Amino acid sequence: MARIPDDELERLKREVSIADLLRARGVELKRVGKDLRGRCPLHGPDETPSLFVDTHRNLFICHGCGAKGSVIDLVMRLEGVSFRHAVEILLADYPSVSSRPAGRPPPKRSTVQKLPALVTDEAGDGELRTRVALYYHETLKKHPEPVEYLDGRGLNPESVVDRFKLGYSNRTLGYYIPQSQRKNGKALRTRLQELGIIKSSGHELLRGSLTIPVFDEHGHVVQIYGRKIGRGLRPGVPQHLYLPGRLRGVWNRSALAESKEIVLCEALIDALTFYSAGYTNVTATWGKNGFTEELLEAFKAYATERVLIAFDRDDESEPAAIELAKRLGVEGISCFRVRFPRGMDANDYALRVTPPAQSLGVLLRSAEHVAGPLTTLVPAPAPAPETAADAPEATTPTDAAPETAQASEHAERSEAPPAAEPASPSAAQSSPPPPG
Ligand SMILES: [Zn+2]
Repeated sequence: MARIPDDELERLKREVSIADLLRARGVELKRVGKDLRGRCPLHGPDETPSLFVDTHRNLFICHGCGAKGSVIDLVMRLEGVSFRHAVEILLADYPSVSSRPAGRPPPKRSTVQKLPALVTDEAGDGELRTRVALYYHETLKKHPEPVEYLDGRGLNPESVVDRFKLGYSNRTLGYYIPQSQRKNGKALRTRLQELGIIKSSGHELLRGSLTIPVFDEHGHVVQIYGRKIGRGLRPGVPQHLYLPGRLRGVWNRSALAESKEIVLCEALIDALTFYSAGYTNVTATWGKNGFTEELLEAFKAYATERVLIAFDRDDESEPAAIELAKRLGVEGISCFRVRFPRGMDANDYALRVTPPAQSLGVLLRSAEHVAGPLTTLVPAPAPAPETAADAPEATTPTDAAPETAQASEHAERSEAPPAAEPASPSAAQSSPPPPG
């Protein structure tokens, strides 16, 4: 990674006001002689208060916990991040003159750009969650990491980022909340804590995550899923996060209105995998045991006829998929099981067997009827390749993952009755589907 030039570091230390940054985090500062004084946010209850800011030199020192230094040191301590990460957070909000849009004047020495407040008026919970999700969405567009992550998972950022308001939480939300002593500032922080967006420590719950909001039928965000994307996470740090409270909302609800046949995944990344490959009639449960009454009601409301259950193909998800099929079958919905090779989920499969539009299409067309009315399975044909690089001849399924396909075939044979033997990727290769 490119080294950050010294003069850029000096610029941040000079231009980003420690006092303004602390105030943006809700710290009240009062003038004492030539310094400002407030309660230190870096250590326990600071009744004294023991934090001093030298506004002239733009330095801070806490006589309680000993923390001191520049604005970079402050962000490192506040956010619990490395020097490098702290600089990146600051650069994101205070870009240098060269990267600043033309015509915008550089900030004056020892002042900061005024940060726009996240919410300035009274907003309901749904609206507040929505604004946070949209803030994360804007953040994603300014940073390469989440887009690199999507690429690495074989997802097409252009087809999913704007469509689903995917976002990135990079620990900067706090700077956009009005100061505690300002009107609404304290109340807003309290409400964001109640919604679980900010923890009692002041940190963002979803920090370091790709964020995927889930909307209700009124267009308000009711839940946000976060997937940690950083490398080298400490062992035990959860990779999958949700806002506290009930898991609700129907992701990609409009698919239910547009198609009588729905592909149902057990994870949002899997659902995005199908969507990226052109199968837009897809939604997801909240995990293998996370099918909700709300989703069932939505299926009924939109008169969904067929559900292709594309849960992971492993010992935990298989019984859950069958049980769910039976439950939906009772409701008169025709249920099919999408049979990935053993041990794989939709995303693993799409990454291993390219092009995904073709490989996923093969599996959808060969899904096995499990419960409900036995309707004829005529899923939509594989989406037309958008570019030459996506053309089917790029790689055939067996070229990409011969061993897996082989192993899967044996597994199928050993457990399934001969009459019900489903098509496997290798079987599909012997009679390839018509392209496009
Ligand atoms: Zn302190």
